[in-house]
Amino acid sequence: SDIADGLIRSVETVTDTVTAPFQPASIRLGVTGLSRAGKTVFITSLVANLMNRGRMPQLVAAAHGNIQTAYLQPQPDDTVPRFEYESHLGALTSPLPTWPDSTRTVSQLRLSLKVQSRGLMGAVTGPQTVHLDIVDYPGEWLLDLALLDKSYADWSDDVLARITNRDVAADFLQLETQTDASAKLDEPTAQALAQAFTRYLKAARVAGFYDCTPGRFLLPGELEGSPALTFAPLSQSDSPPRKSLWREMERRYEAYKSRIVKPFFRDHFAKIDRQVVLVDALGAIHKGPQAVEDMRLAMADILGAFRPGRNAWLTSLFRGKRVERILFAATKADHLHHRQHPRLTAIMQALIRDASDRANFAGAKTAAMSIAALRATVEETVDHKGNVLDCVRGTLLDGGKQAAFYPGELPEDPAHLLAPARDGADAWLDADYQIMNFAPAPLTLKPGEGPPHIRLDKAAEFLIGDRLR
Ligand code: GDP
Repeated sequence: SDIADGLIRSVETVTDTVTAPFQPASIRLGVTGLSRAGKTVFITSLVANLMNRGRMPQLVAAAHGNIQTAYLQPQPDDTVPRFEYESHLGALTSPLPTWPDSTRTVSQLRLSLKVQSRGLMGAVTGPQTVHLDIVDYPGEWLLDLALLDKSYADWSDDVLARITNRDVAADFLQLETQTDASAKLDEPTAQALAQAFTRYLKAARVAGFYDCTPGRFLLPGELEGSPALTFAPLSQSDSPPRKSLWREMERRYEAYKSRIVKPFFRDHFAKIDRQVVLVDALGAIHKGPQAVEDMRLAMADILGAFRPGRNAWLTSLFRGKRVERILFAATKADHLHHRQHPRLTAIMQALIRDASDRANFAGAKTAAMSIAALRATVEETVDHKGNVLDCVRGTLLDGGKQAAFYPGELPEDPAHLLAPARDGADAWLDADYQIMNFAPAPLTLKPGEGPPHIRLDKAAEFLIGDRLR
């Protein structure tokens, strides 16, 4: 069957050479993750490392010298904001490097690569242009998919039941209880409710809850203050009359779904070929068991968006096409000594396994990795009172001092983290993690200190490598 494989490969090569010169290939790479997961840094570093090559040895096409040039071009979609690559790179590479502004909305960037593919037995075909269209969007927007299946009444009941015991929801719940939902709509009341609910969502996020929908309430962009964002969950009386507060809230909730959620899925999500989902798993683990549990649920919800048949409307948009590859990457792995990276990867694998048991990704290739798009630390082993500690050293964002830290341990078995024992959940990463606020390292590390990222090249190989050969 080696011969058969060889034949199949040679047929593929011939097909490539026939079609390649006439039609530039394009790949739409979606980059998502919840707020602060590391999307902006990932895209900036990926593009910088593809344009300025030599630091991506695990990207086969780069290692073999197949990529001749890489350059930015105007994107094909005129009405989508452009990803602000130059200003983000400027922040990271200034004399006093700072982290760039995070993702607030959907944006896009086209990187074109001139690729010299090597055909069968080294036969050289003409160089081919591959357009890489990178689409950056908040993961919070994917969670909104669940709203499409729910009426306003059901959504309200679900949310109110879920948050009833949360301290951070106390103010909103009090206001909601005092509100007469059947009274005639009064705009200041609607606004006060929406604002209180938004304050709750923001506080919930800080507290480590991830079920923070509607996503646009956290990242409203230009929609801030519009009626479609001025609603909140309300418990209902038997049948709220027309023109009541409840009916208007219901109308706005439906407007949010049809005017905001659906266009996003139609115009952006349904066109994606490859997807990376970034997860600040370390941040959640440090926050504690409740944050980990919520991260697990959010991952399952995010994955649900990629499951064919999850939502009939969405399935009809894809028309048989689907996301071909999905990478789940734990970001900021430079907070850990590499000895602990396999544990972080195992946690990501367990997270996807859990979610994909319920989702059927038939056809989509998935992988889990631990990465740092921009490595801000170097490793250092420290003798601490006779104990050997695997530390990382970096420059602190606050004050600019260099210091080595020990973040604490990740569990060897992900089950200890994802299904904590009932008797007192365990704490992980509870040593110095809290104070590890590193400044971005200047993009040039000294020789011997390794590449300026961790496995960004491996991530790129999984996501787009096959299209660059
Ligand atoms: P976004 O909200 O998903 O766009 O997140 P950002 O890309 O803005 O990242 C949020 C923050 O995470 C940054 O400001 C950094 O503090 C941190 N961060 C992101 N990527 C890395 C990384 O590779 N290494 C380290 N040490 N920190 C990172």
